[in-house]
Amino acid sequence: MKNKILIITQTHGNEIIGTEIMNKIRPNKRFRWIIVNKEASTKNKRFIKFDMNRIAPGNEGSKNYEQKRVAEIVSLAKKYKYTIDIHGTSASSGIFTIVTNPTMQNILFAFSLPIKNIVIWGRKKTKGPITRFASCGLEVECGPQTSQKVKNKLRSILKDITGQGINYNQVNFEEKNIYKVYGKLLANKKTKKNTLKDFRKTMFNKETFYPLLCGQYKDFTCYKMDKINFVDLLSY
Ligand SMILES: [Zn+2]
Repeated sequence: MKNKILIITQTHGNEIIGTEIMNKIRPNKRFRWIIVNKEASTKNKRFIKFDMNRIAPGNEGSKNYEQKRVAEIVSLAKKYKYTIDIHGTSASSGIFTIVTNPTMQNILFAFSLPIKNIVIWGRKKTKGPITRFASCGLEVECGPQTSQKVKNKLRSILKDITGQGINYNQVNFEEKNIYKVYGKLLANKKTKKNTLKDFRKTMFNKETFYPLLCGQYKDFTCYKMDKINFVDLLSY
């Protein structure tokens, strides 16, 4: 299995775009696809008790379904050369990759995919996203996940990946945009929310940043990102 790709969907049960598109992808020997949080999926909830993308590597001996399931998925992901975790958001973010563990291998993996925007988001906590514990893995975030345009684009990306495998021969470093998440924006009522747009350079309270996942969260306005270049990335 060491050359194969593991595609996982519904790590968050209510983010159905990945499952919807994977149902349309013809199976082949290059990849395996599984649904992660099956219990939350049937209830159309993000999670039941534990957010599965915050508790990896999970706990094999736990009686809780989500803790145990995360441990199962992490040990499965270690058997595959690549893991891709597909998420969906209500934000108008388009499709971008999230590198949850910014090792050189994972960064190059992000560069190899047919996705222009790369977000470096290495939260250094003991527990965290599933892909951080994969041999080589990242997340693909899609938004808004109900948009037909976004669905079509995801389908074309996944057709490409599952049809041709991971290919480093045609990586074009110039055509990628690299961002790094560094904080959250907690805006007051005066914030003109519609002036903030994902990946569009913004100035707010004399601070310049690129917003991410605008309108996705109730307790804050968006994440803040810096745009960085490939050399900065090497010293991350
Ligand atoms: Zn998600």
